[in-house]
Amino acid sequence: MIRILDTTTHDDVLQILRQRSVHRDDQTESVVKQIIADVRQRGDAALLENARRFDAQGLESLVVSEEEIASAVVPAHHELAIRTAYERVLGFHQTQLARITEGWIGSKNQFRWSKGDDPGIGQRLLPVSSAGVYVPGGNATYPSSVIMNAAPGFAANVSDIAVTTPARADGTLADSVLLALRTVGVKRAYKIGGAAAIAALALGTETIKRVDKIVGPGNRFVNEAKHQLWGQVGLDGYAGPSEVCVLADDAADPRFAAADLLTQIEHAPDNAGFLVTLSRAKLDQILQEAEAQLKGAPREATMRQALREQSLAIVARDLTEALDLVNEIAPEHLTLAVKDPAAAMEGVQNAGCILLGEQTPESAGDFCLGASHTLPTSGAARWQSPVNVLDFLKLQSVARLSSEALQPLIPVIEAFGEMEGFPTHGFGASIRRT
Ligand code: NAD
Repeated sequence: MIRILDTTTHDDVLQILRQRSVHRDDQTESVVKQIIADVRQRGDAALLENARRFDAQGLESLVVSEEEIASAVVPAHHELAIRTAYERVLGFHQTQLARITEGWIGSKNQFRWSKGDDPGIGQRLLPVSSAGVYVPGGNATYPSSVIMNAAPGFAANVSDIAVTTPARADGTLADSVLLALRTVGVKRAYKIGGAAAIAALALGTETIKRVDKIVGPGNRFVNEAKHQLWGQVGLDGYAGPSEVCVLADDAADPRFAAADLLTQIEHAPDNAGFLVTLSRAKLDQILQEAEAQLKGAPREATMRQALREQSLAIVARDLTEALDLVNEIAPEHLTLAVKDPAAAMEGVQNAGCILLGEQTPESAGDFCLGASHTLPTSGAARWQSPVNVLDFLKLQSVARLSSEALQPLIPVIEAFGEMEGFPTHGFGASIRRT
């Protein structure tokens, strides 16, 4: 059911893992190019056509109305879960903002290094004016993605956050998604998905005001659109098909390891699971347990396809080699089901979210730990962070020199003007010589 590799052929394993990369293909690229051009040219008309073609045939309006948001009703335990997750995610990111701004001086949204009229040189840290959150919705319903992407933005004090998500076939959004919008306090929400949604947020249409930054996960059309629109809008990075890596030593409980492996590949058949063990016997136990858990599961076919087509099970010689492989995989989620997870974590350079020990299920990371579940996938954890308040903040450099502070810099400016062939640069300083 899953391809098994033995690291007696270590170089071959690395070769296979290094072939992993952010998914792009010619056909998706050309489809997305056309969609973006169409949105640029025809605005709302193109959006409605897209939404009717892919999501809801009879869709009348792109706008999620205030009445829809206000009237959403879900069972009490769902409402409690949404509120709990929201409070934890907001709190986590408010703490992050406080940590970042500790030592900075200034008003709520503006921070600098020194006080008074003469800041000298310093930096201001301020939120972007507006942000767009993409909430996926094609094959599943993601109220958690509303929380995980919008709450960090609100924690960063972004005042205008717009959400886009595909409508269901009947033109509605799930009550759970509407309730999440209400709980988080989103005022602008639109029923549009895929590349068209990203184009609308980046370029603006009659109905959807363009934003400064877009965050949120999605399928290959969403990520390709982000790629093509880079430079016209700020982007969080690559968050594509979900993936998990479970690193289990011989003491790991196969039931937990199998459950964590299956959790992340439940979303869609393009999801990937990686299992790294230190012995073939443990690997077989975990796969046997996974087989038992799969049988009859509501999304069995999806999970089997993901295991068959995207996943790998690897036997490493020891923990050091296992950690090398983990760093090559650079997984979105990493479960460390080992005797001393904190010590093992010291060897992890590349992973979006690390879940330590057997009592920290993958699904807690998805729904309610507090950190955002929008994480780098397809190896992007080598350079990319989870969505967090920094995604919604930007720095500005600030300088104010006195005449005395300027004088010793004038020869430096003149010299660079000479070296680079720009005498006017030098003159801009020398004219102020006293
Ligand atoms: P989606 O909302 O990303 O995509 C649906 C949209 O795709 C549609 O609205 C349509 O516009 C577009 N589309 C579909 N078929 C198309 C076609 N043939 N041509 C052009 N456009 C087309 O929903 P999804 O497809 O269910 O994918 C969601 C993805 O997001 C999954 O891979 C899931 O694993 C991932 N995900 C990741 C995270 C994370 O944090 N990394 C969280 C949740 C979901």
